[in-house]
Amino acid sequence: IEASRIEEVVRDFVDLKRSGVNFSGLCPFHSEKTPSFSVSPSKNIFKCFGCGKGGDTVHFLMEYEQISFVDAIKKLADKFNVPIEETVPSPEYLEQQNQEESLFLVNQFARDFFVHHLWETPMGKSVGLSYYNSRGFTEEIIRKFQLGYAPDTGDALLQEALQKGYDKENLEALGLVSEKGRDFFRGRAMFAIHNPSGKIIGFGGRILNTVLKAPKYINTPETEVYHKSEVLYGLYFAKKAIRKADQCILVEGYTDVVSLHQAGIENVVSASGTSLTE
Ligand code: ZN
Repeated sequence: IEASRIEEVVRDFVDLKRSGVNFSGLCPFHSEKTPSFSVSPSKNIFKCFGCGKGGDTVHFLMEYEQISFVDAIKKLADKFNVPIEETVPSPEYLEQQNQEESLFLVNQFARDFFVHHLWETPMGKSVGLSYYNSRGFTEEIIRKFQLGYAPDTGDALLQEALQKGYDKENLEALGLVSEKGRDFFRGRAMFAIHNPSGKIIGFGGRILNTVLKAPKYINTPETEVYHKSEVLYGLYFAKKAIRKADQCILVEGYTDVVSLHQAGIENVVSASGTSLTE
């Protein structure tokens, strides 16, 4: 904390102007038109006289980026070239971290696969894109939310995953592929679900073939990285706006979140089906 400079940390996110021995700017934690946010290099702290938020460099990063104490320390150490020592984690912990990390990688692969199929294949364009267009979504918003298209073939995802060296076991563990080797999502508009830090934890798929008697939406089942009762769709894209507005709008579904974002209302999330908890 001593090695970090508050004005340098804050300046990455907020325009600061000199005012005497301090700096001032518009508070990133509440909406305001005249600056009441002050940074004191001599005390190495920030303070907002509007909303009362204040603290040192660690507090600022934790609050602004919505990250943990440890992650804030790591970021600061990195920025100000302070080596940090970490205690050696137990083999069990490492094993679990590795497993979780590889699951995220597989989900990321699946997200890229769905996005690719939306933009680069004839079916994606004619079926997937025309659905999104019918909802009035712009290309910009489709790309921002990483919306995709799952091809209507039996095992296209599985085959490409295997070819790229991913384990079938992990695909199954993530609910992407059935035990029998069939893709779980087929012929659907795909909504990638992010955790608050932006990693892909699961998917929602909306049916596009109205002839089929299948559920309109299917979602990733409970997995090691996807716990429905703890997930709000869109939180990753909404967190800054929620903090700023100090208010969060809860809507029903994926498309409501995307539509509101497109309309410039970003403090919005949706619950995962009926799993909403207090
Ligand atoms: Zn403030």
